[in-house]
Amino acid sequence: MKLLLHICCAPCSVAIVDKFKQIPEVELGGYYYNPNIHPYEEFIKRREAVEKMADQYQLSVEYEDDCNLEYWKEKLNSEKDIRCRVCYSMRLDQAAKYAAENNFDAFTSSLLISPYQDHELIRSLGEKLASKYGIKFYYEDFRSLFYKGKNISRGKGFYMQKFCGCMYSYSESDHPKKPLYNF
Ligand code: SF4
Repeated sequence: MKLLLHICCAPCSVAIVDKFKQIPEVELGGYYYNPNIHPYEEFIKRREAVEKMADQYQLSVEYEDDCNLEYWKEKLNSEKDIRCRVCYSMRLDQAAKYAAENNFDAFTSSLLISPYQDHELIRSLGEKLASKYGIKFYYEDFRSLFYKGKNISRGKGFYMQKFCGCMYSYSESDHPKKPLYNF
């Protein structure tokens, strides 16, 4: 199976990449698309971590470098349920489209590893968008791999973010090591 992994960041994707790299029947490709990470400095830190991970796992990754803070400032609803739905849909739509255009059999997403995301919503959007583009959505509950991914990332020195990505999630995060950003 030729499988495209939508990658949101290195810590969320590394354990999934590690898993599929050990299955010879799976030909894995990566697609980094996360336009809702702000500010740009944070976007670059996460992108570089994905590059490092891809290099170490010999994973071919396509990078989409959209990061338009002004667009999101205007469009993003502060209400979490509404804004996350928009954010998931945008990322999964692009990933499904890319997978279909590049002859993948199916796509999946590293978003499915996080216990902090709306897992069932991601699953249903993935299935809906897969059928829109005439491919399959590979669903697996990767959440049991979440801490493995964090441990691998810590061990390999990948950048580990302290908030989900958007400016609202930055304000919501109470992580003591959160970088100082001004939106
Ligand atoms: S909290 Fe995370 S998933 Fe939700 S809109 Fe912000 S960046 Fe996207």
